[in-house]
Amino acid sequence: MIVRSAMPKQPDPTTRARRRTPAWPVLTCFWVLALAGCGSPPAPPPTANPAPATTPPVTPAPAVPAPPPAPAPAPAPAEPTVPAVVSAARGGETFTLLGTTIAPGTSQRLTWSAAKIFEGMSSETPVLVVNGLEPGPVLCITAAVHGDELNGMEMVRRVFQNLSPDTLRGAAIGIPIVNIQGFRRGSRYLPDRRDLNRFFPGNPQGSSAARIAHSLFENIVRNCSALVDLHTGSFFRTNLPQVRADLGLQSVADLAHGFGGMLVLNSVAAPGTLRRAATDAGIPAVILEAGEPLRLQPKQVDQGVAGLKRLMRSLGMTRKATLLKQPEPVYYRSRWVRSDHGGVLFSVVRLGQTVRSGDILGTVTDPITNEQNLVYSPAEGRVIGMALNQVVMPGFAAFHIGTESQPGPNAALADPGSEESGKDRDVEALDGAAETAARDSE
Ligand SMILES: [Zn+2]
Repeated sequence: MIVRSAMPKQPDPTTRARRRTPAWPVLTCFWVLALAGCGSPPAPPPTANPAPATTPPVTPAPAVPAPPPAPAPAPAPAEPTVPAVVSAARGGETFTLLGTTIAPGTSQRLTWSAAKIFEGMSSETPVLVVNGLEPGPVLCITAAVHGDELNGMEMVRRVFQNLSPDTLRGAAIGIPIVNIQGFRRGSRYLPDRRDLNRFFPGNPQGSSAARIAHSLFENIVRNCSALVDLHTGSFFRTNLPQVRADLGLQSVADLAHGFGGMLVLNSVAAPGTLRRAATDAGIPAVILEAGEPLRLQPKQVDQGVAGLKRLMRSLGMTRKATLLKQPEPVYYRSRWVRSDHGGVLFSVVRLGQTVRSGDILGTVTDPITNEQNLVYSPAEGRVIGMALNQVVMPGFAAFHIGTESQPGPNAALADPGSEESGKDRDVEALDGAAETAARDSE
């Protein structure tokens, strides 16, 4: 079992104002407490007949003149609020999920239905629950929030197939297909063309997407003590398996490093994403990106499953030996490289390839005039995401390069990628949803 430091780390003055007191040690605390004790040493239990004091009796101090009345003390600065227990459920104990009582040492398959169109027409999606016999965190794994991203669905199946409630510490909750309506249509979006992953934590009086998001968040995510949201690249783009995490938040950084041997990209989640809503609610969350949409890719699925197993091991949920992996770099910055020309894009580089500044990444050829232009890497780094060969417009985001593997003095302020720059926001406004997806497939 891995016992993490129970003391919250001191805030780093360089961090953003948004940084919150790490929730993860607290989360870890509640289940470690039962086994090893956590945080400050607990006060001794009261005893009916306390032992006689060994210190000599205290002589009353001589009276001293009362000090002049002090001015009213300034109100103490507000302490950051730390939820005692963020998760509504505790692994290894009896808890209720979606109206069903989950006893320790049991596995259940539940159904979650966010939207009932009319009687007999609901969109139910399975929820897998494994509750161990011993206390531990509640790890939630969600997939297919974008209905066309299939690799995560298969990862959930493989991870849960191998979990036994007899040996698991804590609980695991898996939702293989969150966006069941998009999944049935082979679409990233909901039927109203909204991106579900822009509406968390949702609103029970809002749009259809906001209501679905609210239902998921309140009924399931609130029970999680950590969350991994599985994604792929979007719209004919593919991603090297990678964890995206806001490394400015210690609890999230701890979670990301638990994947061991998987590339980590520092990335602040956009408002409305499940990842952002969860961390804002005190639930450390990361996304795991692997591969491309509308495909089931064995290699990427294998890598994702291996990372999830290492994570569960690092959280102390499983004891299975996992293969030690060579650590992958952490990228604190990344940038998208765009084609300045329209035409047929052919990549020259492979996913995962290391590139230097000035290297040719791909060619863009005008199919009519035969004019060919090259796309160059603007920096040294690694290709962590890229477009598949296709016809592109000028400005198309074609290659995603992880560029900085050192935190540097402003790491906590590190731009998670060019996607957050004003320039790119302009492009987004012009190009619409597809470009948004290119910026961040999450
Ligand atoms: Zn996605």
